[in-house]
Amino acid sequence: MTTLVDPSTAEVIGTVADATEEEAAAAVGRAAAASPAWRAVAPADRARLLRRFAEVVDSHVEELAAIEVRNAGHTVGNARWEAGNVRDVLHYYAATPERLSGRQIPVPGGVDVTFHEPLGVVGVIVPWNFPLPIAGWGMAPALAAGNTVVLKPAELTPLSTLRLAELALEAGLPEGVLEVLAGTGAVAGWRLVTDERVAKVCFTGSVAVGKRVMAGCAEQVKRVTLELGGKSANIVFADADLERAAAGAPMAVFDNAGQDCCARSRLLVQRSVFDRFLSLLEPAVQAVVVGDPRDPPTQMGPLISEAHRARVAGYLEGVTSVAFRGRAPEGPGWWFPPTVLAPVSPGERVAREEVFGPVLAVIPFEDESEAVAIANDSRYGLSGSIWTENLGRALRVSRAVEAGNLSVNSHSSVRYWTPFGGFKESGLGRELGPDAPEGFTETKNVFISTEAP
Ligand code: NAD
Repeated sequence: MTTLVDPSTAEVIGTVADATEEEAAAAVGRAAAASPAWRAVAPADRARLLRRFAEVVDSHVEELAAIEVRNAGHTVGNARWEAGNVRDVLHYYAATPERLSGRQIPVPGGVDVTFHEPLGVVGVIVPWNFPLPIAGWGMAPALAAGNTVVLKPAELTPLSTLRLAELALEAGLPEGVLEVLAGTGAVAGWRLVTDERVAKVCFTGSVAVGKRVMAGCAEQVKRVTLELGGKSANIVFADADLERAAAGAPMAVFDNAGQDCCARSRLLVQRSVFDRFLSLLEPAVQAVVVGDPRDPPTQMGPLISEAHRARVAGYLEGVTSVAFRGRAPEGPGWWFPPTVLAPVSPGERVAREEVFGPVLAVIPFEDESEAVAIANDSRYGLSGSIWTENLGRALRVSRAVEAGNLSVNSHSSVRYWTPFGGFKESGLGRELGPDAPEGFTETKNVFISTEAP
């Protein structure tokens, strides 16, 4: 049994039963039983069902957002976007069934064609920081490609995806096609890794657990995608529009209270403009509205839990470089103010580890090659930003930085119609974008002889 707490008030909001080993196995069994009929649904009918699912989600955006505000402490603005993202991702991949075509390859003596066969049952394991979008990114292309899905939300944040499972049934998806399994990582999550009826695991979470999941999948040569952590760099060159860069930098790391795998938690600033940039950054940080997540103007809410707040605070122990901090409410709830450390050297712990909280490390650099070297001196490679008015430099640095998702003169968030994923220990494989459904299929090659007898 997991007790759920509203992170903004520290009040208990309910309990959720954790699946036992037998219950987890039964959920996989229902998904496996539903698989033959689901893969046989005609493409246009599967598309229609997914569009209907999207429409039902759309008519529940406010309800889903309210659940996420209470259960995860997300600002209501973010939570509405997140629920809307599930709708949009379902709509986007609803176009897949009629377009998941193979190829016809010229060969002598016959015809060669390829098919994208569904895998069967896909396990989607979701972290607590973005319960709804990450659920959607895994389940929508998997379902569209003809797989059934068992989705395991994080222990702390199961409520929104449990509701999604009800909405799927309301939309007409057959029983067993989408199973949502609340439970612990060690029991329910591990069951998805080890159960031979699960053909692929689509995991998002920490590097440590991701490695364990990958090793577990290797036992069965099970397909696996990993979306793991990040320590992304926001690189500001002296020739950038410094006012714009400074205005954008706070929410590039403090959005979702820094609990974002794409958080630009390292801010690399060219030394010649370092002091001026910090003087522009300070008022921008102090202007971040931190408070009641139910209040629409609020930009940043609390951290997810008391234990996580203690972990984030641990990164500031013995640190003397706190340059300035924003404000945060006093009293109940897991509040932590936006915090800027400067100057930080690239070797410091806070510049190397994923804090997953509202802590920004500002690091000076001399020139372009040093900026690239510092940015790449990380085991992670998920996202990042480059601020410069020089087009050649923007392209050179974009090609040189080892990360899967970069933006120039912006901090664009993830777009569901473009590919998303990490270099190095930030992950394996890509989600989203036009090719994601193929990642939930096996390519089958068939040769048909046309030789006359
Ligand atoms: P976590 O790794 O602790 O847990 C993630 C999920 O894995 C949870 O559902 C958990 O129950 C499950 N799990 C735990 N142990 C397991 C096991 N042995 N077998 C199977 N499943 C298991 O991560 P978290 O603390 O929930 O999330 C934060 C992390 O997620 C951060 O590192 C963050 O960067 C990362 N993240 C990455 C992305 C991305 O797309 N790259 C997106 C969001 C979060």
